[in-house]
Amino acid sequence: MKKFCLLSILFLSLILWSASKNRVYAQDGYLHCGTTEVQNEIFRANPHIKEEYLKQEAKATLEDLQAFSKGYKENDQKALPPIYIIPIVFHIIHIGGAENISDAQIHDEVRVLNEDFRKLNSTSANTVSAFQSIAADCEIEFRLAQKDPNGNCTNGIDRIVSTLTNAADDNSKLNGWPRDKYLNVWVVKTIASGAAGYAYLPSTAAFMPSTDGILILSGYVGSIGTGSTTTSHALTHEIGHFLNLKHTWGDTNNPGVDCSGSDNVNDTPPTEGWLTCNLSGATCGSALDNVQNYMEYSYCPTMYTAGQKTRMRTALTSSTASRNNLWTTNNLSFTGVSLPAVLCTADFKSSSFTNTVCQGDSLTFTNLSWNGTPTSWSWTFQGGTPATSTDSLPVVHYNTSGVYDVSLTVSNGSGSATANKTAFITINPSTAIYNASFYSEGFEGSGIPNTDWKIHNQTPGGNTWVQTSTAAASGSKSVMITNLTNSDTFVDELISPSIDMTAITGSINIAFKVAYAQRSTTTNDKLQVYVSTNCGLSWNLRKTMTGAALSTGGVQTASFTPTASQWAQQVVSLTGYTLQTNLFIMFRFTSNGGNNIYLDDINIGGTAGMVDNLENFTNFNIYPNPTEENTMISFNTIEKQKVEVKIYDLVGAEVSSVFSGDLNTGEHQYSIEKKNNLAPGVYFVTLSIDKQHFTKKLIIK
Ligand SMILES: [Zn+2]
Repeated sequence: MKKFCLLSILFLSLILWSASKNRVYAQDGYLHCGTTEVQNEIFRANPHIKEEYLKQEAKATLEDLQAFSKGYKENDQKALPPIYIIPIVFHIIHIGGAENISDAQIHDEVRVLNEDFRKLNSTSANTVSAFQSIAADCEIEFRLAQKDPNGNCTNGIDRIVSTLTNAADDNSKLNGWPRDKYLNVWVVKTIASGAAGYAYLPSTAAFMPSTDGILILSGYVGSIGTGSTTTSHALTHEIGHFLNLKHTWGDTNNPGVDCSGSDNVNDTPPTEGWLTCNLSGATCGSALDNVQNYMEYSYCPTMYTAGQKTRMRTALTSSTASRNNLWTTNNLSFTGVSLPAVLCTADFKSSSFTNTVCQGDSLTFTNLSWNGTPTSWSWTFQGGTPATSTDSLPVVHYNTSGVYDVSLTVSNGSGSATANKTAFITINPSTAIYNASFYSEGFEGSGIPNTDWKIHNQTPGGNTWVQTSTAAASGSKSVMITNLTNSDTFVDELISPSIDMTAITGSINIAFKVAYAQRSTTTNDKLQVYVSTNCGLSWNLRKTMTGAALSTGGVQTASFTPTASQWAQQVVSLTGYTLQTNLFIMFRFTSNGGNNIYLDDINIGGTAGMVDNLENFTNFNIYPNPTEENTMISFNTIEKQKVEVKIYDLVGAEVSSVFSGDLNTGEHQYSIEKKNNLAPGVYFVTLSIDKQHFTKKLIIK
């Protein structure tokens, strides 16, 4: 009700449902709004803000209201929007608990807001008959921001990990977006004052742009997940404050006490205010109180009045706290909420998830652009046939091996967006680069990715495979993922060069060294080995190692760096692939929030058990490697054995025989002198002990 005046153009209002000193509970123990408390705290510390507030409320005389109403009608005639659309952003301040509510719960809250502010709420039918005629469609709509302040795509949900989610206050309002462009809502776990939420009325917010917006508990957002139907209207109440509404009983947080206050709205009956849902309640001389008002604490709200609608829409035409910029055509475009939905960022994928295929094969491309729906597509395919396309799902043939760019421009009635992906597609030769009988990899050469080894990062943003000098099973380097700081579910792949398997007869295995530690006994990080016979178009799983079965370093909470004894050899059978002329191997690591993983010494060889046992005894090493000068080959023999050491080039041609003959038990070393024998390049050194072969890559710089 409005006691001394009707509406005034400039008001601030805050709404929250509780306060620390006088925590007020509605029926069923629901928390209340803290707006009055925070506003009074601001007033105590800043008397000039209180002066401005009182001045503006004092102006809310009948004359002012009439003047406003007149001006509003004139403005309406100037084609002010019948519906004010407000871009809204939810900043979820969380520490990974239940307060990190789902996108679906936020979408549900936006649904609740739009139903409440458009009188589309199903509970509108429950409004008591005395108030049916003044229950208003406020003609205010909320849309999740689709562009952030920098023009980047967003879903309007901004997740921030911070302990400020606990005992939250204005200091918890992290990463606020400009309040003249967005309605900021910060969702938190607990609020210091004990309130369910609070906001600042425009006249107060005008002095505090960085904290303008709404702070609210995660359980009071949406009707699903951690929310409930009853609490889902708390944000409707708080936005009422944001748009200059006061509680129906006035400027206190103590409803049900007396009739001294007023909300300065002309059609809300005078009331003491309600903590319960007494639909026949009447106080302060009213025939019937509007207990079902969103600005009550009754927790059975169904309506705003026509007078409250006018006061909110007045606030939206006022420059106080920049409310009059939120709904402008320019701002709706800036925040990406205009319709048809803007094509915020173009994106696409190929039918090969690693974006690799053999020469002579085809790929299908699919649009993945954000937000809007394209109505036209313009593709270019470097190295492909066709070279351009306007299809939505083009099929492109690649005849020549190489690495190629792809670009896509999508358009619709709201504009266009372009994605250029350089070196996006790798077309592999139809013949393998390496011969399996001479193949090994110790990752001693150039860092990865390199001309041989590729990385596919399914979840960009975290740490992926890199070469490291901090640990090695042999030599001085290996490859690893600093997984300790990766989020759960990150997936990273390491893909080998192509290998011709036909030179090996009998059973074939991939052997490699792995080192890994769990972070806790329940972290189940996963390493999987796949092979592809079609240059990466599809992959077949050969082995899965996970959790404790993968761990070589036990459980460690600190960043794991393996010692020499914390490497284990794993062997993966390639039975069934002996006739493959062009095989690719892929190591996929899926994070479960555990610790670091390392790989080294990948070899392809014959019978697994023999390789495994003998290699551990032979301790076959080449060092330094890579080398610019001489290098040393060392190994052990466990009895008198027939031994050969030979060096081959990339295509398997023998370039040097280092030793051939019988050796007694013990350690043996042979020097390889670069200047005499080997030009700079990549070689394979093969150690044969009886009929077992071990191969290591040697790089001469
Ligand atoms: Zn409130």
